[in-house]
Amino acid sequence: MKKILIQLDTDSQASVFDQVVAFDAGVEHIISIGNVTPDTVEAHVHGAMFTRGGEALKNTAIFVGGSQVDKGEAVFEKVKKTFFGPFRNAVMMDSNGSNTTSAAVVRRIASSIDLQGKKAMVLAGTGPVGIRTATLLSREGCQVSITSRSSEKAAQVCDQMKADWGVTVTPHGVTSPEELASLLQEVDIIVAAGGAGVVLLPQESWKYLTQVKVLADVNAVPPLGIEGSQVMDKGEERDGKLFYGAIAIGNVKMKIHQRCVGSLFESNKQVLGLEEIYNIAKGL
Ligand code: NAP
Repeated sequence: MKKILIQLDTDSQASVFDQVVAFDAGVEHIISIGNVTPDTVEAHVHGAMFTRGGEALKNTAIFVGGSQVDKGEAVFEKVKKTFFGPFRNAVMMDSNGSNTTSAAVVRRIASSIDLQGKKAMVLAGTGPVGIRTATLLSREGCQVSITSRSSEKAAQVCDQMKADWGVTVTPHGVTSPEELASLLQEVDIIVAAGGAGVVLLPQESWKYLTQVKVLADVNAVPPLGIEGSQVMDKGEERDGKLFYGAIAIGNVKMKIHQRCVGSLFESNKQVLGLEEIYNIAKGL
């Protein structure tokens, strides 16, 4: 029986990236549907859950994606609510790569440093990747802070993280390099999670921070988030600190993404959100 992936994408054009990864993970056929909303998703889920019965149900899985992470989360919730009893399919949510990328960032950092009890700062940690990275670091025992250009936005995001994931993260509004420098004095780990092409940390700001051990940057678009780092950095050392760049993180992200999609076909009960994706990443 063919392994079919139902790709439910919140964008009008379903992601080619997600399709290629799915084929590489062993999927044999993909049904791609764009413009999916919580209001329209039920019929698609019924099509998946009422066709192949019993054991065979595990051969049809659902992937929720698209560039808008909040829309993807809403569709994911509706998909889970549509299932009942034994009528369910495995489902994974990874809109804009947010879950697999944050899992990859934290696994990369964890390969260099014991996370328990460390102080971590996620720069521009208010986007989907930053929020999830901060959450995972906190779950791993770090004392985590995030920055934003707006202290109100940072506080709002931290409140939401507490409500959504049960983690306590400290918010900081940062408007000058001096403010940032003073916040980084005691930090062990720095993650740059800002939008593409935005420099968040000039070289002069990290060079002399002797207690910083690991820096990771998810932005692959020049100029990079951490000035003086390289996209290919895979634990390279500079001034006594280890660096991870966006491509090295992206390579791990691809492995996690593929492994997760592959695991959807092991059981129709699989539900892969942030936590489950991170657990799979830990096992790689
Ligand atoms: P995002 O939502 O686009 O941006 C994250 C935060 O960056 C925003 O909340 C904003 O924070 C800050 N920001 C945006 N524009 C800025 C500017 N001009 N100046 C200063 N700060 C700015 O990002 P995301 O979707 O979470 O993704 C984060 C990064 O991961 C992106 O660079 C993306 O390309 C990258 N990514 C990498 C991979 C990979 O495999 N390596 C995969 C997916 C994504 P405030 O408004 O709060 O200041």
